[in-house]
Amino acid sequence: MAEATSVEPSLSASGKLLPVRVCTVLRASILSATEMDDTPIPITARPMSIEERSILARLLEFDFPGSEGLRAQVPFVSVVGVCPCGCVTRELKVDRAQVPPAPGVSSPIPGEAEIPTRGGDYGGGIIAFAKDGYLSSLEAYSHDVEPIRSWPPMDVLIFRSRG
Ligand SMILES: [Zn+2]
Repeated sequence: MAEATSVEPSLSASGKLLPVRVCTVLRASILSATEMDDTPIPITARPMSIEERSILARLLEFDFPGSEGLRAQVPFVSVVGVCPCGCVTRELKVDRAQVPPAPGVSSPIPGEAEIPTRGGDYGGGIIAFAKDGYLSSLEAYSHDVEPIRSWPPMDVLIFRSRG
């Protein structure tokens, strides 16, 4: 079994070297978004939780190429995999019989959320990936050595678009 997490150095605003935990799923996604599907631990498909759905829907409220098509997929998304590191990252699957692929989508999608530093946490971020024009994962990464083990409340998150 591969090590689920790795620690990489990162400069904080003060220039101090901080350890950054980046889960395997996230790293694999960045390195090769097209070869991602077998990295998570498969689970029996279930509907998204309210938290997962709310955050994903909010990331898709920004206008970017394919955003309208991705929004149309949200009702047909199931959670089919979890990250081995214990974070809240979820592998998603769209029922492709119900809705077409979104054309021109980049991955990760431009909509993202910052998890601000608070209460001694270093914070992190939330991003979503698409594959073949379909939503494929919702991922939370941490700037701390600890993974993000629960979704932060919506009113804590800072949503923005890279586009
Ligand atoms: Zn993880």
